[in-house]
Amino acid sequence: RGRDGLGAYITNPESYPSDIVISHNADFVAIHDMFPKSSLHLLLLPRDQTKTHLHPFEAFEDTEFLAKVRFEAQKLRSFAAAELRRKYGKYSLQEQERQIALSLDPPPDELPVGRDWAKELMCGIHAVPSMNHLHVHVIAVDRYSDRLKHRKHYNSFATPFFVPLDDFPLAQGDPRREPTRQNYLKEEFTCWRCGKKFGNRFVELKSHLEQEFLEWRKL
Ligand code: 5GP
Ligand code: ZN
Repeated sequence: RGRDGLGAYITNPESYPSDIVISHNADFVAIHDMFPKSSLHLLLLPRDQTKTHLHPFEAFEDTEFLAKVRFEAQKLRSFAAAELRRKYGKYSLQEQERQIALSLDPPPDELPVGRDWAKELMCGIHAVPSMNHLHVHVIAVDRYSDRLKHRKHYNSFATPFFVPLDDFPLAQGDPRREPTRQNYLKEEFTCWRCGKKFGNRFVELKSHLEQEFLEWRKL
């Protein structure tokens, strides 16, 4: 366990129940984060033995590998979007399909398909990972979770410390290549949704995050 705790999922994905390991194939394992920092927080673990021990910056320099990870992350993002729709959506997929089946007028493609929940997810890595095995976060933007307990938990997803998968490959001079120098984790708290600043006031931030969560989810 400890920093190597993600290794067991890679070597033995079939030994976990589906509420922990979501899916696995020869190259990837998708899991639920055990200490979720949002209402939905998943991890994608590449199984490639030549990559799993590399820092993401190094691993993603291999553009072929990066493309594979992107493709798989996109699939997990779709899964996560469906999960958010199921949890918070006005129309479940079933309800959408039922409405489409029932209606001849207006035609199906004019029916409201509902909110694009995929847009409510972030997909990326931490500039300084704490866990040793290469992993990509697929996390809902809300950052509403009782597991979000201190500054690092929030700022690691709310500052450039979080590097979206889409930003790779990073330019040579990208400041995120020197994350400790940038002190991202020490930045003052800024609400992900409205941009309000909270200085070092974590308790206030937490209650604001709850307000924002309630608005966000029903929007
Ligand atoms: P990092 O900061 O390294 O990018 O994120 C590592 C993530 O792994 C964290 O979000 C943490 O909650 C999660 N994590 C740590 N240990 C375990 C574990 O044993 N199982 C699972 N499923 N997630 C873990
Ligand atoms: Zn706000």
